[in-house]
Amino acid sequence: MAQASSSKQTERLDTGSFSRVAPFSLALARHDLKLRRKKTTTLQINVGLLCNQACRHCHLSAGPNRVENMQPDTLDAVVDYASKIRFGTIDITGGAPELNPHITDLIERLSPLASTLMFRSNLSALNDGKHDQLMSVLTDHKVVIVASFPALNASQTNSQRGTGIFEVSIDALQKLSARGYGREGSGLELNLVSNPTGAFLPPPQDQTEKRFRKVLRDKWGVSFNNLLNFANVPLGRFRQWLIKSNNLDMYLEKLAAGFNPCAVSGVMCRTLVSVSWDGYLFDCDFNLAAGIYMSGHKIHVSEMTGPPREGAPIATADHCYTCTAGSGFT
Ligand code: SF4
Repeated sequence: MAQASSSKQTERLDTGSFSRVAPFSLALARHDLKLRRKKTTTLQINVGLLCNQACRHCHLSAGPNRVENMQPDTLDAVVDYASKIRFGTIDITGGAPELNPHITDLIERLSPLASTLMFRSNLSALNDGKHDQLMSVLTDHKVVIVASFPALNASQTNSQRGTGIFEVSIDALQKLSARGYGREGSGLELNLVSNPTGAFLPPPQDQTEKRFRKVLRDKWGVSFNNLLNFANVPLGRFRQWLIKSNNLDMYLEKLAAGFNPCAVSGVMCRTLVSVSWDGYLFDCDFNLAAGIYMSGHKIHVSEMTGPPREGAPIATADHCYTCTAGSGFT
């Protein structure tokens, strides 16, 4: 059955109206492409915008002063939905999901409901001295950890994320390694995410992965499974920084110039649904940050009686160029 029918007021936030680039929908039309939902295989849960860091590149403007955190009634509605639909993958994100007080309980409840349970961490929240039990729960349930680790350079990381973050992140990686994360045959998967510090696109992923693998192993004895090298998304705090530094148009033009029509079929919004801290549904975490509801309709997870409808249109804006620049962002 498709989505529930109540509370369907169309709401659209145009985040790209003052940029110089052509609307993303026009880039699609030029290649005779339409962005439509396929079968939804991933449920992404954004448990809150509270974070211990306030990174310049954050598309959600998460930080220590944010008070938005998923409450028990919304968590119950999300778990109920996940048990009805049985998504292949459930992806827990934030903010820093470690800072939601119900996080260990949520992991234990979701673990039997998906073949892959993923947890996104900035590493420093996991290694703040208060989350050893969470680390054990992640290990026990073989949760895939997707960790932000922007650079191998301490001063670059600390300038992007805050003083001392590099050192505490390395320490967290060593603790995860000691538990078996990233080690062959352990069944404990650790993937790293790196991103550029400024208004430029990342270098080729395979070269970066090789370099990270060698340096992390040789210097710190850390292994990992995959490295994902993503461009920063021009939303939230990163968009504000682009505007202030007069880089917004140049950055969007760079993304738009890299438009790769072949990347459109693989963008994550086609197979993912994202739930916000207050339980509303979005086609992806970037549309969540921009306030663009799933297919343009405001629907709460508790209203859903089935998966998102296959073939439903996906609302787009200029930040979508991030997903289709070069080999894409999935
Ligand atoms: S930003 Fe979201 S809606 Fe746009 S192409 Fe990327 S995944 Fe799809």
